Amino acid sequence: MNYILLDLEWNQAYAEQAMAVQKRLGTRLRGEVIQIGAVKMDEDKQICGSFSVIIKPKFFRRIHRHVMQLTGITQDMIDMGIPLEEANARFRRWCGDNAVFLTWGPDDVPMLTDNLRANGLDTGWVPPVYDLQVIYNMQTDGSSRQRSLEYVMEQFEIEQRLPAHDALNDAYFTALVAARLDIKKGIAMYSDRRGQYLDAVEFGNADVGEKGFSSPEQVLKDDLVEKPECPLCHKRLEFVGKMLHAKGQRYSQLCKCGEHGSLMMNVRLARNINGTFRAKRTIVEADADMIATHQEKISRAQTEKSAKRRRRRYTRPATAKQA
Ligand SMILES: [Zn+2]
Repeated sequence: MNYILLDLEWNQAYAEQAMAVQKRLGTRLRGEVIQIGAVKMDEDKQICGSFSVIIKPKFFRRIHRHVMQLTGITQDMIDMGIPLEEANARFRRWCGDNAVFLTWGPDDVPMLTDNLRANGLDTGWVPPVYDLQVIYNMQTDGSSRQRSLEYVMEQFEIEQRLPAHDALNDAYFTALVAARLDIKKGIAMYSDRRGQYLDAVEFGNADVGEKGFSSPEQVLKDDLVEKPECPLCHKRLEFVGKMLHAKGQRYSQLCKCGEHGSLMMNVRLARNINGTFRAKRTIVEADADMIATHQEKISRAQTEKSAKRRRRRYTRPATAKQA
Protein backbone atom coordinates (compact mmCIF):
# COMPACT_ATOMS: atom_id res chain seq x y z
CA MET A 1 0.00 0.00 0.00
CA ASN A 2 1.15 3.53 -0.76
CA TYR A 3 0.57 6.68 1.22
CA ILE A 4 -0.39 9.67 -0.89
CA LEU A 5 0.35 12.97 0.84
CA LEU A 6 -2.16 15.29 -0.75
CA ASP A 7 -2.43 19.04 -0.77
CA LEU A 8 -4.72 21.21 -2.86
CA GLU A 9 -4.88 24.88 -3.61
CA TRP A 10 -8.28 26.23 -4.53
CA ASN A 11 -9.64 29.44 -5.87
CA GLN A 12 -12.44 31.14 -4.05
CA ALA A 13 -15.25 33.12 -5.57
CA TYR A 14 -15.99 36.77 -5.28
CA ALA A 15 -19.39 37.05 -3.57
CA GLU A 16 -21.59 37.79 -6.65
CA GLN A 17 -19.99 34.98 -8.56
CA ALA A 18 -20.55 32.51 -5.71
CA MET A 19 -24.29 33.19 -5.75
CA ALA A 20 -24.56 32.80 -9.53
CA VAL A 21 -22.69 29.50 -9.45
CA GLN A 22 -24.76 28.26 -6.52
CA LYS A 23 -27.92 28.91 -8.54
CA ARG A 24 -26.49 27.14 -11.54
CA LEU A 25 -25.30 24.06 -9.63
CA GLY A 26 -28.09 23.97 -7.07
CA THR A 27 -25.47 23.58 -4.38
CA ARG A 28 -22.82 25.73 -2.78
CA LEU A 29 -19.34 25.29 -4.20
CA ARG A 30 -16.88 26.54 -1.60
CA GLY A 31 -13.90 26.74 -3.86
CA GLU A 32 -12.55 25.49 -7.12
CA VAL A 33 -9.41 23.37 -7.14
CA ILE A 34 -6.60 25.00 -9.13
CA GLN A 35 -3.63 22.90 -8.04
CA ILE A 36 -3.20 19.29 -6.97
CA GLY A 37 0.11 18.52 -5.32
CA ALA A 38 0.94 15.06 -4.04
CA VAL A 39 3.88 12.99 -2.86
CA LYS A 40 3.85 9.21 -2.81
CA MET A 41 5.42 7.21 0.00
CA ASP A 42 5.76 3.47 0.27
CA GLU A 43 4.99 1.54 3.43
CA ASP A 44 8.51 2.14 4.72
CA LYS A 45 7.83 5.87 4.40
CA GLN A 46 10.27 6.28 1.52
CA ILE A 47 9.26 8.95 -0.97
CA CYS A 48 8.80 7.29 -4.35
CA GLY A 49 7.05 9.82 -6.54
CA SER A 50 5.48 13.24 -6.87
CA PHE A 51 2.61 14.80 -8.78
CA SER A 52 1.69 18.38 -9.50
CA VAL A 53 -0.79 19.91 -11.87
CA ILE A 54 -2.37 23.31 -12.36
CA ILE A 55 -6.06 23.24 -13.22
CA LYS A 56 -8.04 25.73 -15.22
CA PRO A 57 -11.15 26.64 -13.21
CA LYS A 58 -14.53 26.45 -14.87
CA PHE A 59 -16.76 28.29 -12.39
CA PHE A 60 -14.54 30.81 -10.60
CA ARG A 61 -12.32 31.79 -13.50
CA ARG A 62 -10.89 34.94 -12.02
CA ILE A 63 -8.15 34.29 -9.51
CA HIS A 64 -9.11 35.73 -6.11
CA ARG A 65 -6.55 38.23 -4.89
CA HIS A 66 -6.21 36.47 -1.50
CA VAL A 67 -5.51 33.19 -3.26
CA MET A 68 -2.94 34.80 -5.52
CA GLN A 69 -1.22 36.43 -2.54
CA LEU A 70 -1.15 33.21 -0.58
CA THR A 71 -0.20 30.74 -3.30
CA GLY A 72 1.60 32.81 -5.92
CA ILE A 73 -0.66 31.22 -8.53
CA THR A 74 -1.49 33.87 -11.13
CA GLN A 75 -4.29 34.37 -13.63
CA ASP A 76 -1.93 33.39 -16.47
CA MET A 77 -1.03 30.16 -14.74
CA ILE A 78 -4.61 28.99 -14.30
CA ASP A 79 -5.54 30.15 -17.81
CA MET A 80 -2.92 27.73 -19.07
CA GLY A 81 -4.00 24.95 -16.71
CA ILE A 82 -5.68 21.74 -17.81
CA PRO A 83 -9.37 20.92 -17.22
CA LEU A 84 -10.24 19.12 -13.98
CA GLU A 85 -11.48 16.13 -15.96
CA GLU A 86 -8.02 15.53 -17.40
CA ALA A 87 -6.18 16.37 -14.17
CA ASN A 88 -8.42 13.95 -12.28
CA ALA A 89 -7.80 11.13 -14.78
CA ARG A 90 -4.04 11.65 -14.58
CA PHE A 91 -4.04 11.92 -10.81
CA ARG A 92 -6.16 8.83 -10.41
CA ARG A 93 -3.80 6.82 -12.62
CA TRP A 94 -0.79 8.14 -10.71
CA CYS A 95 -2.35 7.21 -7.33
CA GLY A 96 -2.93 3.61 -8.41
CA ASP A 97 -5.37 1.19 -6.80
CA ASN A 98 -3.68 0.50 -3.54
CA ALA A 99 -3.38 3.83 -1.76
CA VAL A 100 -4.69 5.92 1.10
CA PHE A 101 -4.68 9.71 1.28
CA LEU A 102 -2.95 11.52 4.11
CA THR A 103 -3.71 15.23 4.43
CA TRP A 104 -2.84 17.98 6.86
CA GLY A 105 -6.25 19.02 8.21
CA PRO A 106 -9.65 17.82 7.11
CA ASP A 107 -10.39 20.19 4.23
CA ASP A 108 -8.68 18.90 1.12
CA VAL A 109 -10.51 15.71 0.23
CA PRO A 110 -14.04 17.09 0.69
CA MET A 111 -12.96 19.98 -1.55
CA LEU A 112 -11.75 17.50 -4.16
CA THR A 113 -14.91 15.39 -4.11
CA ASP A 114 -17.16 18.49 -4.19
CA ASN A 115 -15.28 19.62 -7.29
CA LEU A 116 -15.54 16.22 -8.93
CA ARG A 117 -19.27 16.17 -8.28
CA ALA A 118 -19.76 19.72 -9.58
CA ASN A 119 -18.10 18.55 -12.80
CA GLY A 120 -20.18 15.37 -13.01
CA LEU A 121 -17.14 13.17 -12.35
CA ASP A 122 -17.02 9.93 -10.39
CA THR A 123 -15.84 10.17 -6.76
CA GLY A 124 -15.92 6.43 -6.09
CA TRP A 125 -12.20 6.04 -6.80
CA VAL A 126 -11.14 8.44 -4.03
CA PRO A 127 -9.30 6.30 -1.47
CA PRO A 128 -9.78 6.45 2.32
CA VAL A 129 -8.36 9.61 3.86
CA TYR A 130 -6.66 10.17 7.21
CA ASP A 131 -5.99 13.55 8.73
CA LEU A 132 -2.37 13.70 9.86
CA GLN A 133 -3.21 16.57 12.20
CA VAL A 134 -5.28 14.11 14.21
CA ILE A 135 -2.55 11.45 14.12
CA TYR A 136 0.04 14.03 15.18
CA ASN A 137 -2.12 15.08 18.13
CA MET A 138 -2.73 11.49 19.19
CA GLN A 139 0.98 10.71 19.10
CA THR A 140 2.14 13.89 20.85
CA ASP A 141 0.16 15.80 23.46
CA GLY A 142 -3.23 14.20 22.85
CA SER A 143 -4.85 17.59 22.37
CA SER A 144 -7.42 18.38 19.74
CA ARG A 145 -5.76 21.60 18.66
CA GLN A 146 -5.32 22.31 15.01
CA ARG A 147 -1.60 22.77 14.66
CA SER A 148 -0.29 24.40 11.55
CA LEU A 149 2.14 22.49 9.38
CA GLU A 150 4.73 25.22 10.04
CA TYR A 151 4.38 24.73 13.79
CA VAL A 152 4.85 20.98 13.57
CA MET A 153 7.83 21.30 11.23
CA GLU A 154 9.43 23.56 13.79
CA GLN A 155 8.73 21.03 16.55
CA PHE A 156 10.41 18.32 14.50
CA GLU A 157 13.21 20.71 13.50
CA ILE A 158 12.50 20.23 9.82
CA GLU A 159 13.97 23.04 7.81
CA GLN A 160 11.58 24.73 5.40
CA ARG A 161 13.74 25.06 2.32
CA LEU A 162 10.95 25.62 -0.19
CA PRO A 163 8.20 28.24 -0.29
CA ALA A 164 5.00 27.24 1.54
CA HIS A 165 1.48 27.33 0.06
CA ASP A 166 2.49 25.63 -3.12
CA ALA A 167 0.52 22.39 -3.21
CA LEU A 168 3.50 20.22 -4.13
CA ASN A 169 5.82 21.82 -1.56
CA ASP A 170 3.16 21.52 1.14
CA ALA A 171 2.59 17.87 0.22
CA TYR A 172 6.35 17.35 0.48
CA PHE A 173 6.52 19.05 3.91
CA THR A 174 3.59 16.90 5.01
CA ALA A 175 5.56 13.84 3.88
CA LEU A 176 8.54 14.91 6.00
CA VAL A 177 6.24 15.25 9.01
CA ALA A 178 4.54 11.93 8.22
CA ALA A 179 7.97 10.25 8.17
CA ARG A 180 8.35 11.20 11.87
CA LEU A 181 5.02 9.65 12.85
CA ASP A 182 3.87 6.07 13.25
CA ILE A 183 1.45 6.10 10.35
CA LYS A 184 0.33 2.48 10.59
CA LYS A 185 -0.54 2.79 14.23
CA GLY A 186 -2.02 6.22 13.62
CA ILE A 187 -4.36 4.95 10.93
CA ALA A 188 -5.48 2.06 13.11
CA MET A 189 -6.15 4.29 16.12
CA TYR A 190 -7.66 6.96 13.94
CA SER A 191 -10.27 4.68 12.43
CA ASP A 192 -11.00 3.30 15.87
CA ARG A 193 -11.50 6.62 17.51
CA ARG A 194 -12.59 9.23 15.09
CA GLY A 195 -14.33 7.71 12.13
CA GLN A 196 -13.54 9.16 8.77
CA TYR A 197 -14.32 12.66 7.73
CA LEU A 198 -17.05 12.51 5.17
CA ASP A 199 -17.28 16.24 4.92
CA ALA A 200 -15.68 19.38 6.28
CA VAL A 201 -16.79 22.90 5.53
CA GLU A 202 -15.83 26.27 6.90
CA PHE A 203 -18.25 29.15 6.54
CA GLY A 204 -18.66 32.74 7.72
CA ASN A 205 -14.92 33.33 7.52
CA ALA A 206 -14.82 37.12 7.36
CA ASP A 207 -11.02 37.00 7.38
CA VAL A 208 -11.12 35.74 3.79
CA GLY A 209 -13.95 38.00 2.68
CA GLU A 210 -17.03 35.97 3.56
CA LYS A 211 -19.83 37.41 5.63
CA GLY A 212 -19.40 36.53 9.33
CA PHE A 213 -22.21 35.66 11.74
CA SER A 214 -23.31 38.19 14.35
CA SER A 215 -23.75 35.57 17.09
CA PRO A 216 -23.39 31.84 17.77
CA GLU A 217 -27.19 31.56 17.56
CA GLN A 218 -27.06 32.85 14.00
CA VAL A 219 -24.55 30.15 13.09
CA LEU A 220 -26.80 27.47 14.52
CA LYS A 221 -29.68 28.79 12.41
CA ASP A 222 -27.71 28.46 9.18
CA ASP A 223 -28.97 25.77 6.80
CA LEU A 224 -25.59 24.05 6.99
CA VAL A 225 -26.23 23.38 10.68
CA GLU A 226 -30.01 23.34 10.89
CA LYS A 227 -30.71 21.35 7.74
CA PRO A 228 -27.57 19.33 6.98
CA GLU A 229 -27.47 16.90 4.10
CA CYS A 230 -25.80 13.51 4.02
CA PRO A 231 -22.41 14.09 2.35
CA LEU A 232 -22.75 10.78 0.53
CA CYS A 233 -26.26 10.92 -0.97
CA HIS A 234 -27.23 14.57 -0.31
CA LYS A 235 -30.50 13.61 1.34
CA ARG A 236 -31.57 15.66 4.32
CA LEU A 237 -30.25 14.19 7.59
CA GLU A 238 -32.58 13.41 10.45
CA PHE A 239 -31.56 14.58 13.94
CA VAL A 240 -31.35 11.97 16.67
CA GLY A 241 -31.71 13.42 20.17
CA LYS A 242 -30.53 16.81 21.33
CA MET A 243 -27.58 18.87 20.26
CA LEU A 244 -24.65 18.77 22.66
CA HIS A 245 -23.02 22.08 23.51
CA ALA A 246 -19.49 21.53 24.81
CA LYS A 247 -16.78 23.90 25.99
CA GLY A 248 -14.96 26.06 23.49
CA GLN A 249 -18.07 26.73 21.39
CA ARG A 250 -18.37 23.21 20.11
CA TYR A 251 -21.61 21.56 19.16
CA SER A 252 -22.33 17.96 18.24
CA GLN A 253 -25.47 16.52 16.79
CA LEU A 254 -26.08 12.86 16.12
CA CYS A 255 -27.82 12.42 12.77
CA LYS A 256 -29.20 9.63 10.69
CA CYS A 257 -29.34 8.99 6.97
CA GLY A 258 -31.83 6.36 5.77
CA GLU A 259 -29.17 4.91 3.51
CA HIS A 260 -25.89 5.64 5.30
CA GLY A 261 -26.78 5.16 8.93
CA SER A 262 -25.51 7.17 11.90
CA LEU A 263 -23.44 10.26 11.27
CA MET A 264 -22.08 12.81 13.71
CA MET A 265 -22.14 16.49 12.81
CA ASN A 266 -19.63 18.58 14.74
CA VAL A 267 -19.69 22.36 14.60
CA ARG A 268 -16.90 24.44 16.04
CA LEU A 269 -17.12 28.21 16.27
CA ALA A 270 -14.32 30.73 16.11
CA ARG A 271 -14.03 34.51 16.08
CA ASN A 272 -13.17 36.45 12.99
CA ILE A 273 -10.83 39.43 13.25
CA ASN A 274 -13.81 41.81 12.91
CA GLY A 275 -15.51 40.19 15.92
CA THR A 276 -18.08 38.16 13.99
CA PHE A 277 -18.22 34.36 14.13
CA ARG A 278 -17.23 31.69 11.67
CA ALA A 279 -17.75 27.97 11.95
CA LYS A 280 -16.26 24.73 10.85
CA ARG A 281 -18.66 21.87 10.33
CA THR A 282 -17.48 18.31 9.97
CA ILE A 283 -19.52 15.17 9.43
CA VAL A 284 -18.10 11.78 10.32
CA GLU A 285 -19.44 8.27 10.38
CA ALA A 286 -20.55 7.51 13.92
CA ASP A 287 -19.80 4.08 15.29
CA ALA A 288 -21.31 2.52 18.42
CA ASP A 289 -18.52 3.83 20.69
CA MET A 290 -18.84 7.36 19.44
CA ILE A 291 -22.62 7.28 19.87
CA ALA A 292 -22.30 5.91 23.40
CA THR A 293 -19.78 8.58 24.43
CA HIS A 294 -21.96 11.26 22.88
CA GLN A 295 -25.09 10.10 24.68
CA GLU A 296 -23.21 9.88 27.95
CA LYS A 297 -22.09 13.50 27.55
CA ILE A 298 -25.62 14.60 26.76
CA SER A 299 -27.10 12.98 29.83
CA ARG A 300 -24.26 14.38 31.97
CA ALA A 301 -24.95 17.88 30.58
CA GLN A 302 -28.61 17.46 31.40
CA THR A 303 -27.89 16.37 34.97
CA GLU A 304 -25.57 19.32 35.45
CA LYS A 305 -28.18 21.66 34.09
CA SER A 306 -30.90 20.43 36.42
CA ALA A 307 -28.48 20.44 39.38
CA LYS A 308 -27.71 24.06 38.62
CA ARG A 309 -31.40 24.81 38.45
CA ARG A 310 -31.97 23.11 41.82
CA ARG A 311 -29.07 25.01 43.42
CA ARG A 312 -30.44 28.23 42.13
CA ARG A 313 -33.84 27.45 43.61
CA TYR A 314 -32.34 26.96 47.09
CA THR A 315 -29.81 29.78 47.22
CA ARG A 316 -31.95 32.43 45.66
CA PRO A 317 -35.38 32.44 47.31
CA ALA A 318 -38.23 33.18 44.98
CA THR A 319 -39.56 36.68 45.40
CA ALA A 320 -42.56 36.40 47.59
CA LYS A 321 -45.75 37.48 46.05
CA GLN A 322 -47.19 40.51 47.66
CA ALA A 323 -50.34 39.52 49.38
ZN1 LIG B 1 -26.84 9.24 2.86
